Amino acid sequence: MNFGDMFKNFRKTSSTIEDAPSHWIKCPQCNSLMYYKEVENLFHVCPKCQHHMRIGQEVRIESLIDKGSFVEFDSTLAPIDPLKFVDKKSYKKRVEEGEKKTGKKSSVVCGECTIEGIPTQLVVFDFKFMGGSLGSVEGEKIVRSAHRAIEKKHALIIVSASGGARMQESTFSLLQMSKTSAALKRVSQNGLPFISILTDPTMGGVSASFAMLGDLIIAEPGALIGFAGQRVIEQTIGTKLPEGFQRAEFLLEHGFLDMVVKRKNMKKTLADLLYFFDTNIHNSNGRNRKILQTRRRRDDFVEDDSLEVETG
Ligand SMILES: [Zn+2]
Repeated sequence: MNFGDMFKNFRKTSSTIEDAPSHWIKCPQCNSLMYYKEVENLFHVCPKCQHHMRIGQEVRIESLIDKGSFVEFDSTLAPIDPLKFVDKKSYKKRVEEGEKKTGKKSSVVCGECTIEGIPTQLVVFDFKFMGGSLGSVEGEKIVRSAHRAIEKKHALIIVSASGGARMQESTFSLLQMSKTSAALKRVSQNGLPFISILTDPTMGGVSASFAMLGDLIIAEPGALIGFAGQRVIEQTIGTKLPEGFQRAEFLLEHGFLDMVVKRKNMKKTLADLLYFFDTNIHNSNGRNRKILQTRRRRDDFVEDDSLEVETG
């Protein structure tokens, strides 16, 4: 074997740059290099600085619900391209890329699940699919979930991670802001809770519509939440903005949010809130009544300091 062959074999057996991310991950905040599995077990929260990294719909759903309880609906709904829109790439191409990254046809996954035994309608955004943008399909899925919540007397939870309205759909996208808001009004009229969870980032048309209409608005630590970006605002008003502006903690302090909850505590917090709202009290289903009877008392929620919930 000559030296060239040896080098060829060496290259084959070594980790490639493409393999590297599956073993090691760098925290975008504190730059610590960590073993991927370790971070994965912590639902992608940095063990050194507690930075909450962005996660896809799959990990998000897993972190919130009772194992194996999620039943997805409307997964076949796919965007059409009414404007035949092309910017740097065609809209069609961008949708294809999003599908490749997430395995889904839109930036929203919706379905039914249980959270500590309580049946709930859940909608989750995936930022990897076109920046979690809100288009016609995403809006329609939210409206259908709202209708299912009303029909089944369930609570509705929407987890946002979005850059805003999908510009490739222009007015069709902006229309979703009013369409989803109207559906949530009907949820409210039916006396059912809507809990909005804002994750990094929740911006633009999403924060300007359904994401801010929650009966309870909860954010993850450090999440960027706002309408326009900081630089645009600074240029428009000609002033330097304060430290931490548009971050979850700043917004909590200024009364924009109800809670900032760490990812590891989110499921338990949701379960306690759902229990508190008694979402199934009107449901004559014996199983649900039994679940309610066996659930923790509300006092547990107040006394449990392991929750580490910040409230405003
Ligand atoms: Zn870190």
